[in-house]
Amino acid sequence: MKIVITEIPEEGLELDLTNDIQSDAIKIVSPVNAAVRLDKVLPEVIAKGVLKGDVELQCSRCLKNFTERISSQFNIVYRPTTEIVRGEQHQLKSDELDTVFYTGDTLETDDLLREQLILNLPMKPLCSSDCRGFCPQCGADLNLSGCGCKTSEVDSRFEVLKKLKKEKE
Ligand SMILES: [Zn+2]
Ligand SMILES: [Zn+2]
Repeated sequence: MKIVITEIPEEGLELDLTNDIQSDAIKIVSPVNAAVRLDKVLPEVIAKGVLKGDVELQCSRCLKNFTERISSQFNIVYRPTTEIVRGEQHQLKSDELDTVFYTGDTLETDDLLREQLILNLPMKPLCSSDCRGFCPQCGADLNLSGCGCKTSEVDSRFEVLKKLKKEKE
C-alpha cells in the first residue's frame, strides 16, 4: 500500500493492514497482518507497530520445510534520501529507532512489512525445539527412527566400561 506523506494527517494515521506480500528472499505463506501508526515529524515519518505473518523456513537440523509464525514490533523513522545528499545529521532520538530512507513523497508499506519479516527470521530455524535432525554417522532421520549408531560420547563410556571389566577379569 502506498502512503502519500502529505496525506498523513497531523494527528497521525492508524492503519490495519492485511496484505499478500511476496519476497524473493523468503516464502511468505499467509497474508501479513499489521497494525501501523504513522506520525509526521517532517521531513521524517515515524512508523510504529506490530506485525505477524507465516513464512516457510527450512529446519537447520533436519532440513525439512516448515511454517513458522513471525511476529514483531517495529519502531522506524523514515527519512528522505535528500537528507543523505545534504549530509544533515538530525538529532532525532533515533538511537532506539531503525532508519529507513524514502524517496519522493510516498512510503510503501509492503516494503516495510517485508523487511520487518526478514529482520525477524530466526538465525537457526528449527521445525521443533526437540528436532533430532540426522545421525552424523549414517545420515538417518532421527525424527523417524533410531539408527543403532552409537554416538561418540556413548562409545567412549562404553570403552571405559569394557576396560574396567577386562581389568577385573
Ligand atoms: Zn527439524
Ligand atoms: Zn546412525
